[in-house]
Amino acid sequence: MSQLNPRQREAVRYIDGPLLVLAGAGSGKTSVITRKIAYLVETCGLRASRIAAVTFTNKAAREMKDRVGKLLGGNAAEGLTVSTFHQLGLKIIRSELKLLGLKNGFSIFDGQDTQSLIKDLLIQEHGSDGDQAGIIQQQISNWKNDRVLPEQALAGASGPAQMLCAQAYRRYQRALKAYNALDFDDLILLPTILFESHADILEKWQNTIHYLLVDEYQDTNSSQYLLVRQLVGVRGALTVVGDDDQSIYAWRGARPENLAQLQEDFPGLKLVKLEQNYRSTSRILKAANTLIANNDHVFEKQLWSELGYGDPLRVIRCADENHEAEQVVAEILDHKLRKRTRFGDYAILYRGNHQSRLIELALQQQQVPYHLSGGTSFFARNEVKDIMAYLRLIVNENDDNAFLRIANVPRRKLGASTLEALGNFANEQHCSLSQAIGRIGSGVLPEAGRNRLREFRLWMDRIRRQCEGGGGISAVRQMIREMDYEEWLNQLSSSEDVAERRMGNVHFLVDSLNRVMTDEGVELDEAISRLILRDLMEQQEEEDASPDNVQLMTMHASKGLEFPHVFIIGMEENLLPHRASVEDGNIEEERRLAYVGITRAQQTLAMTMAARRRQFGETINCEPSRFIDELPQDDLTWQGTDVDDQQANEERGQETLAGLKELFA
Ligand code: ATP
Ligand code: MG
Repeated sequence: MSQLNPRQREAVRYIDGPLLVLAGAGSGKTSVITRKIAYLVETCGLRASRIAAVTFTNKAAREMKDRVGKLLGGNAAEGLTVSTFHQLGLKIIRSELKLLGLKNGFSIFDGQDTQSLIKDLLIQEHGSDGDQAGIIQQQISNWKNDRVLPEQALAGASGPAQMLCAQAYRRYQRALKAYNALDFDDLILLPTILFESHADILEKWQNTIHYLLVDEYQDTNSSQYLLVRQLVGVRGALTVVGDDDQSIYAWRGARPENLAQLQEDFPGLKLVKLEQNYRSTSRILKAANTLIANNDHVFEKQLWSELGYGDPLRVIRCADENHEAEQVVAEILDHKLRKRTRFGDYAILYRGNHQSRLIELALQQQQVPYHLSGGTSFFARNEVKDIMAYLRLIVNENDDNAFLRIANVPRRKLGASTLEALGNFANEQHCSLSQAIGRIGSGVLPEAGRNRLREFRLWMDRIRRQCEGGGGISAVRQMIREMDYEEWLNQLSSSEDVAERRMGNVHFLVDSLNRVMTDEGVELDEAISRLILRDLMEQQEEEDASPDNVQLMTMHASKGLEFPHVFIIGMEENLLPHRASVEDGNIEEERRLAYVGITRAQQTLAMTMAARRRQFGETINCEPSRFIDELPQDDLTWQGTDVDDQQANEERGQETLAGLKELFA
């Protein structure tokens, strides 16, 4: 407690009713949550298993659990729930399966599964080419986040486009049910619906969770918020912390106004504001404050710190994107040498994942160790998706998406026409593809195709029995051997090295599964669900991150983190702010994103911009981001060649070259 300031202490000690801690970046909001959990256990005598904390990423959840564990010592933190909203939802769903009409071993569809399902439905049932699947997927997700059910969507649809969307939604829900599957949004939606209709179940959960804490509250959407309200009930044992200026997930339905909503729904809400920042130099804070002053605010606040005025913020002008990457890496190497820092002290932040590629190359060239967060996630790799599909099919034979992914991987001579005939038959019979195999008669399919399908199903059934019969992980290993997946990878890969690396990923996946089973004491099917969920939250690789790496990530992913030295690259119009947001006039959200990026920095901050950049095969001229203009100009130093000079130089160089060529011609 002595390490906290009086305001923070007040927030930790206040347990008489709902509490909102509203504060800017780096003011110790997350620290308050961690301390408060310890306080509730140590001083208030609450059992850790009666406390739940919700964070935004798995990584944050793990870190928080670690910290609380250290604060409390021993096994006092045992049973504490620290999770994301989705994990919490999954936990509730798992224990109320029957009421929800789900069978054991249900599947969780990721965005890709969802989209391909919608696409199939559009093609099959609406005679469309499926182009709109992405848009419809987003609309369905919006509906789910706003708790609009298919019937309501249909009733409210105006115009043919919305009608199509709503029909697709209804059809999609039916398909999910048939597959015994849930999508990501369902993990929140279903518990809230269940709680609404079953007061006794709600009461049971309210009695399980005696105190709820929520970090990064500004990014909860309305169905997540409802879940909070339901769980807290009239008891009001709730602490939420947030910063409206860091709300950056509008596209997932989060709104800064949600913070104000809280005051309406909890009339007794106590508000604590924190304004001292413990992370950054005054100069960095001044820049952040000045920038964000251009936005409308829900709550006014002004950050300050006692960490000295600090170095000026640097704006580094570069000729193009290659130059930008080289510059950043050169700066890091130079700075590290002079200041004797570690690579892990540096972070490179950007607006979109594609911006990391050249930086990665430049880092590799200079042999700088780095860690990329949230790039091509481990689980997005083909071989991993294949094996995951097999696993999904083991726990749920009706998971048609998984079935379709691997029916012919490795090749089993099950051609498109065989699968299509099977699909049509399954539709008629209202059963899953696996089930259809058992029922299909000779009139529907040629004998050879039918036999191959049967063979496949018999084999899968045997594997499933082995897994269920306690065979666990060794049954999975045997399955991979029996289908000779390694040989398949050899055929598929451009070189032996590639095949070997891919098989390595498969082994890693199986080992991870094994680890989840032993560490978390769960059966294979539960372990698979947990892995799938973690995959969706993109974190698996982070566990392997060795500590001394330059960190590369999007500004979205940098939320809640801090680094001594930060580079924000691509400070240009159409990158930050992003082109789509410029076109939609949604600049405020982009400004908040820039604010998040800037406030990650503890000691130094540099921003780069390129004069030209290749985009879609052509070179375009870039304009500095408007956000640079909005920073306090006296606190900036400009670095790098003046772009116009450089252009002139280059043109002069070209002329000389042309002259020389002429001379030698
Ligand atoms: P963000 O808005 O970025 O999520 P936050 O408000 O959650 O930031 P924290 O991450 O909790 O802030 O804290 C920022 C830094 O300040 C951390 O390094 C933390 O250890 C430190 N800190 C928090 N409170 C204090 C304090 N009272 N005294 C000294 N350091 C503190
Ligand atoms: Mg935080």
